[in-house]
Amino acid sequence: MLGSLSGFHNVGEIVEFATRGVLDDELCSCGTNFRSCDFWNEVGDVAFGGWTREQALRMFDLRWKVQPRSKLPATMLDIRHRRGPVIEYSAVFGKLIRAVAQVAKADVVVDASKLVTQAVALSASDDLDVRLLHLVRDARGVAYSWTKQDVARPSANAVFTEMKTHKPAASAARWCVDNALAEAIARRGLPYHRMRYEDFVSTPGPTVEAALRGLEIETPSGLATQLGSRTVHIPKGHALLGNPSGFGRSEVTLREDTGWRNGLGSRDRRLVTALSAPMLARYGYPMRSDQNDSPTLREASR
Ligand SMILES: [Zn+2]
Repeated sequence: MLGSLSGFHNVGEIVEFATRGVLDDELCSCGTNFRSCDFWNEVGDVAFGGWTREQALRMFDLRWKVQPRSKLPATMLDIRHRRGPVIEYSAVFGKLIRAVAQVAKADVVVDASKLVTQAVALSASDDLDVRLLHLVRDARGVAYSWTKQDVARPSANAVFTEMKTHKPAASAARWCVDNALAEAIARRGLPYHRMRYEDFVSTPGPTVEAALRGLEIETPSGLATQLGSRTVHIPKGHALLGNPSGFGRSEVTLREDTGWRNGLGSRDRRLVTALSAPMLARYGYPMRSDQNDSPTLREASR
């Protein structure tokens, strides 16, 4: 939705450009493979004088030193002292994202990489002005979503053809850690705004306007018209990876996905609720969420 605003360009999950793009040659959202996409080839030329396998392998190596959550304390110390792998890593992404802005003629590049460590790493780049939009969803909806099996990855080429899955307890733990980390790095000075998925699908226009205000991003002209409908027209862009609900589509009608209320078994629901209770409360989610749960399904899941 942000990518549809004038002056904005959505790159999807650019964190994976080296692996899923340069090395695996997965599909861009325009329908062309990465290495055949004119947009990404121009970006590669502007940023690095063209893509090379050597550089992609170097980024693949650096990712293990920067992206894991366990590396975050060391990375933050390295940023303060301007040393370590994060400096090279952030310089590459700085050049890459500036090239995207130039080729797309955009003022704002929207990156949906969703890794907290990536946001921290990008903030080390002298070329970028990074702002963090923290999107929160009810932990039980997130946990249910991660249990879905056999969901095809729409950008996949030959490897990793299905979306990953996680057990509910693992999802709850990741949900707590990632949300806490996002808030922690915001307290260290990264411009930050938090929004709830449920508020967004209920009142998309005002919620996005509040996010732009919160991030101190100038409101694009004609914003009210662009956000006035529940049907979002997605420009034919060049995004990498992404959820099957949006990837490569020209429009999406917003509605809250409440499938987890009946789909997540009562035992898993209690487990996820217990593990994430303090933060569910912090974000304004009720502890009891089974009002829509039918007795038949509740019994069946026991
Ligand atoms: Zn493309």
